[in-house]
Order: sequence, then structure tokens, then C-alpha cells
Amino acid sequence: LYNIVQDLKGNIRVYCRVRPSFNCLSKNVIEYIGEDGSLMILDPLKSKRDERKVFRFNRVFGPAAKQDEVFKDIQPLIRSVMDGYNVCIFAYGQTGSGKTHTMNGPSGGADKDFGINYLALNDLFQIQNVRKDGIDYEINVQMVEIYNEQVRDLLVAESTNTKLEIRSCTSVSGFSLPDATRHSVKSTDDVLNLMKLGELNRAVSSTAMNNRSSRSHSILTVYVNGKDNSGSTIRSCLHLVDLAGSERVDKSEVMGDRLKEAQYINKSLSCLGDVIMALAHKNSHIPYRNSKLTLLLQDSLGGHAKTVMFAHVSPEEDSFCETLSTLKFAQSVSTV
Ligand code: ADP
Ligand code: MG
Repeated sequence: LYNIVQDLKGNIRVYCRVRPSFNCLSKNVIEYIGEDGSLMILDPLKSKRDERKVFRFNRVFGPAAKQDEVFKDIQPLIRSVMDGYNVCIFAYGQTGSGKTHTMNGPSGGADKDFGINYLALNDLFQIQNVRKDGIDYEINVQMVEIYNEQVRDLLVAESTNTKLEIRSCTSVSGFSLPDATRHSVKSTDDVLNLMKLGELNRAVSSTAMNNRSSRSHSILTVYVNGKDNSGSTIRSCLHLVDLAGSERVDKSEVMGDRLKEAQYINKSLSCLGDVIMALAHKNSHIPYRNSKLTLLLQDSLGGHAKTVMFAHVSPEEDSFCETLSTLKFAQSVSTV
């Protein structure tokens, strides 16, 4: 089973991905990327060598890393979903650091440089096909966003949309959104169409509200149900999460709605960090209830579930402060 090898690597994995620089005039703050998962950065305002900082993760992907290279590393873990394990993949980082690129693919989506969402589903369909004589799988997809601690369905039109309530469910441990739409998917084409619809609905609300897509968490959830010939069942899910931008807004500048947004984002990202950290340290109390995000993902964080955090950073000097804060956050939830 796919899970056996994965167990040896631990249940929480933290990766770093450095996006390419788009400004050739900018100094590069990334000094060194090691094969062992180390990353060295240098504060552009301090040129002394002893000002450099070293971080360590499970692995660091440099600016040249391709989508399939990134996917390869988490592929066995994604496959374990078909064996009944819950998995959560997070993209963390400041706006513009490459989160959506990793999860969805390049902006515009013109070429077929698919991200994790598509590659993961493609893989699940392949396994479904290989095992079709032994196990009857059904795959369903749900797509929601959390904005200002309110959950909305991204697969229904904005105009007809209402707030979704999180409820505890008795059939599985944890919480779910009983009123969110779930679509049965049979092929990657089905998935691409749904992803387009979700992005469209997300974009519609963006124009009304201040580039909302970078201020909300979007969660694509894949539900897998399987039944084998003997009648025993498999039930699991894969959450693919494109988090809100982690940048700290200048408190002296923001007021009103923007300040509220920023406070909600800071709170939910720090709650997520607290939960992963508590799991990493095997604490007896895991503070799931402190945010909608962690409450909703509770059944896929901890226990036998597997968690992957991709911390995204930009190599450019004007992003240095955010890069440093992202790396510190990622290091704090990492166990390597
Ligand atoms: P975020 O979702 O974190 O705000 P995006 O994924 O939208 O950031 O990335 C910002 C821009 O950089 C986009 O145009 C995206 O296509 C590009 N980009 C990000 N990461 C990479 C990468 N690894 N390789 C090439 N282009 C990238
Ligand atoms: Mg984005």
C-alpha cells in the first residue's frame, strides 16, 4: 500500500518553493539551496556574511523546479487517499509568491503547465481505473472559500450564494459543510470545468471587493468513496488549500474593511500554525476550534492524516521581510 513508505517519512511535511525572479535589477536574497532541504538567505541591507540565516525543511524547490518535479514528491501521499487516508496540502506565502501557480498552474492558464490540483486528480482517476475490477470508487469534488471567517460555495453563482454553516457530522469524525454542493467527477475534463467555474465565481466577488482572491482561503476538497467485492468500504478526502496571502499589512495605513480582513487572515493563519505545531509536538490538546479553517479540516489534520505545507517565497530583495517571516512560520511547523 502507498501508505507504508509514507508513514516512515512522518505525517507532517514542510517544503519551501522559491519562485523565479521577475525583476533582473533586484538583488537575490536566496544565497544557497541545499539538497538536504536547507536554504540560506541574506538580508540585502546587511552584506556581512554572518548576517545570513539558515532554514531547514523536508525539501526546497528552487526557481527552476517544474510542476511535475514538485508533484512527484507528494504523489505517493496523494495516492494514499485511495487507501483511505485523509490528506491536506497547503500553499502558504505572501501574495505573488506562487501559491496559485503551485496549486492551479500559471495565471491565465494558457499553457498546460498544470498544478497539484489537476495532477492529483489525474492520478486518482488513474488508480481508480487500475483497480476498477477490485474496488468501485466514486470521486466527488467540493470547492469553497473562507473569507472573513465566512464560508462560501465556489461552485454556485455569486448571486444565489449564501453563507455555509459548518456542522459536526456523525458519519465521520469531524466537521463538514452539509449544504455545499458536491459534484461527481469522472475525468480530468470534469475537474477542469469545475475549477474554471470556481475561479470565475471567485473572480466575480474580487472586483466587488478589493482583490478578494488573495484575501481568502480557497479549499478544493476531493471526496473518495470506495467499495470492494467483499463489501468493505473506504472513505477519505484530500483537501487542496490555496491560503490567503500571509503579508502583514501596515497597521497605520489600513482601516475599516481592510483592517478587518487583515485581522481575520492573521488570526486564521496563526491558528493553522498553532494546530500544525501542536500536532508536530504531539501535544494532547490541539486547538482546532480557534478558526473556521482548522475546524473544517479537523478530520484531515492529525491522527493518521498527512499534512503537507508548501511555503512560497520570492527571491527579490523588496520581499525580504515577508520572505523571512514566511520561512520562520514554515520552520516553526516543521519537525526536520
Ligand atoms: P500567489 O497565488 O501566491 O499570489 P501566483 O501564483 O499568482 O502568486 O504567482 C504570481 C505570478 O508569478 C504569476 O504570474 C505566476 O504565474 C508566476 N509564478 C509563480 N510561481 C512561478 C514559478 N514557479 N514559475 C514560473 N512562474 C511563476
Ligand atoms: Mg493566488
